[in-house]
Amino acid sequence: MAIYKVAIVGAGPAGYFAAQALNNLADQDRSFEIDMFERLPTPWGLVRSGVAPDHPKIKTVSKVFEKIATGENFRLFANVEIGKDLSVDQLQDRYDAVIIATGSSLGKTLGIAGEKLRGSLSAASFVPWYNAHPDFADVDVPLDSNAAVVIGGGNVAMDVARILALEPSELDPTDTADHAIIAFKNSDIRKVYIALRRGPEHAAFTSPELRDLPKLEHTNVIINEAEIVAAIARVGDSAEKDVKSNLDAMLFIAQNQKTEHERTIEFLFSHTPQEIQGDGKVEGVVFSTPTGERTIKCGLVVTAIGYNALDIPGVPFGNGKVVNVDGRVTGNMYVVGWAKRGPSGVIGTNKSDASSVIELIGQDLGEPKNKSDITDLLKGKTVVTQRDWEAINAAEIAAGEPLSKPRRKGITWDQLMAHAEIYYF
Ligand SMILES: Cc1cc2nc3c(=O)[nH]c(=O)nc-3n(C[C@H](O)[C@H](O)[C@H](O)COP(=O)(O)OP(=O)(O)OC[C@H]3O[C@@H](n4cnc5c(N)ncnc54)[C@H](O)[C@@H]3O)c2cc1C
Repeated sequence: MAIYKVAIVGAGPAGYFAAQALNNLADQDRSFEIDMFERLPTPWGLVRSGVAPDHPKIKTVSKVFEKIATGENFRLFANVEIGKDLSVDQLQDRYDAVIIATGSSLGKTLGIAGEKLRGSLSAASFVPWYNAHPDFADVDVPLDSNAAVVIGGGNVAMDVARILALEPSELDPTDTADHAIIAFKNSDIRKVYIALRRGPEHAAFTSPELRDLPKLEHTNVIINEAEIVAAIARVGDSAEKDVKSNLDAMLFIAQNQKTEHERTIEFLFSHTPQEIQGDGKVEGVVFSTPTGERTIKCGLVVTAIGYNALDIPGVPFGNGKVVNVDGRVTGNMYVVGWAKRGPSGVIGTNKSDASSVIELIGQDLGEPKNKSDITDLLKGKTVVTQRDWEAINAAEIAAGEPLSKPRRKGITWDQLMAHAEIYYF
């Protein structure tokens, strides 16, 4: 029996689905010992720090991850950053294959004037702030104005707009960070605009997310019916199924508009941001539109226009992702998930993607290299193992129970690490 050692860098969906595909590849002739490295004290990637807290069902995929993690062939090394605590070279040397699954976490910027003003932030900071990512606990989110503008036409923009426009007590039974719930309860924001550069037919929302909007109990959702009717006429019968479904969902919203609530989300199509205005702090956004220039007054601007992957020394990056051909990078290095494809695709997309890369690894592997264990390189390093993570997990769930929350998340590195019985290698 050939036993191969595989390192997976990043404990997000792509990393776990890669581990699952490796397990599926095992047979009577070969098996895999999997070590997963994660820079945070907690696994699950964007399932923990990206997916909106008011969509808890989506997070139940973490049950699949935990099943993989309890396999005897699996070890978690969290609180270990590759590129800092261990180099990629060291991994390539000690493992038969190294799979990069580090996602795509750097928010793209618009490159327009005023983007650095206080009150202008990327969804790449705002989302992890409300989701209790320990690197983002101190993000400055001014909520003391009546209006906010979200720039972007995808599901992240929609999540951001919805979270800003929800009645904040709706977040009480969720795992939203404590500091964010308090801030939203004190928020003056009542009007949230989602501004898209192009027309409704080009929006990258998915229709289930659009269809959820009319279910908001305390928020009006405004879409201009004439714009949707015009878009439907433009695309005609030849429109792709997804586009048709999106336009139908938007038409339904436009024709069933509520106006009785104090809080409102309004969609602005064909609005291209030109400049963020303000004296020391955001006061408005200037857009060009088909009918001329328009300024929307607001005190907060959140851009949700995509992500780039963060560089890791020793890994080739280009165009915001890891340079690869079908997941092969160089030598025994491979890439999966958002680091491979860029920031597109839902959680499930990473499963088929990881399977196809693991298939290639299966073809590439020669004889196992009998390499020595990684732990001697981690001497003196505080590592959060699977058992430690389970202690953090149990503590968070227990803390949430009396508040009817699925969990009450630790907010800072210290709080998270304090829950774990830490191993010092
Ligand atoms: C705001 C937002 C909301 C979303 N909502 C949904 C949704 O509702 N439904 C849905 O299906 N999809 C949703 N998605 C998409 C989904 O989250 C992604 O498809 C998926 O998370 C990508 O998986 P990944 O493993 O490639 O990256 P990630 O989930 O980002 O995981 C990467 C992991 O690698 C770790 N890492 C990074 N660098 C290093 C390093 N140097 N060393 C060690 N570890 C490292 C990170 O800490 C992270 O844990 C959302 C995405 C975003 C941004």
